[in-house]
Amino acid sequence: MSVALFYRRCAPGPLHRKMRYDRIGLELAKTYLFGRGITNDLPTGAMAFLRTDPAERIPDMQILFNAAPLNAHPYLAPIVPPYEDGFAARVVGLRPESRGKIELASADPRKAPRIRQNFFSSEKDLRTLRNALRVAREVARQPAMKPYLAAEIAPGPKISTDAAIDAYIRKTAITVHHPLGTCRMGPSGDPHAVVDSNLRVFGTERLRVVDASVMPDLVGGNINASVIMIAEKAADLVRGRALLSPTRL
Ligand SMILES: Cc1cc2nc3c(=O)[nH]c(=O)nc-3n(C[C@H](O)[C@H](O)[C@H](O)COP(=O)(O)OP(=O)(O)OC[C@H]3O[C@@H](n4cnc5c(N)ncnc54)[C@H](O)[C@@H]3O)c2cc1C
Repeated sequence: MSVALFYRRCAPGPLHRKMRYDRIGLELAKTYLFGRGITNDLPTGAMAFLRTDPAERIPDMQILFNAAPLNAHPYLAPIVPPYEDGFAARVVGLRPESRGKIELASADPRKAPRIRQNFFSSEKDLRTLRNALRVAREVARQPAMKPYLAAEIAPGPKISTDAAIDAYIRKTAITVHHPLGTCRMGPSGDPHAVVDSNLRVFGTERLRVVDASVMPDLVGGNINASVIMIAEKAADLVRGRALLSPTRL
């Protein structure tokens, strides 16, 4: 689960300048023809893994940095007015205790399932996100940010007490890009386990699940590499290939 802080920039940044229709057209052509230019990348990618409390053994929060506001769009004044430039920091709780659930809503396989995220059923998750938001504010206060950061737009400086921050989190928290664990792996006696250690679905034959849903828990970061690892392992299982010999890293 995660919550975002939004900031106004002191002056329009490089991406904003390039978003004018004529300039962005040129950038797109550069990217298409030569693989270069500002459109060759997303205005994201900077991130940090931090501890909300020095007593934490390993990072329990992540900051995902967005170098453009959510309403960024190509413009050409006065026909399409420019947007106000800004950036955002999305803070993510990496080790939530709250557990959601996914259930069939109908016997019809075409009907969408019922998903209950159950955020903050553990009080600790709310506390972690509140502390994480404060850590992000601390980062934003650093002198290096001064030339860029004009003001915090949301939650805004008035939201400063625990109660006010919690209310903002409850109102705006969302899951990030890493849903997993809806078909989790576990021992046969575990009522929540769906697949065994060979990715086979309990109670069925010749059926495996191979994706992020089999992860028993979060890895505490972005999960794409783990998904690829599961897929590689599944390919070996299906082909009956022997285990790789242990390697010291
Ligand atoms: C915006 C975004 C950014 C991300 N950025 C990162 C990142 O920077 N680093 C990182 O590590 N991870 C990132 N992730 C997470 C990562 O991409 C996913 O966790 C990972 O792709 C999950 O793999 P998966 O195989 O479980 O599911 P998916 O990759 O979602 O694969 C599911 C596949 O099933 C197909 N499908 C769905 N329904 C059906 C159906 N009924 N019949 C047949 N096929 C179906 C879909 O088309 C899709 O191809 C990001 C995710 C998002 C959404």
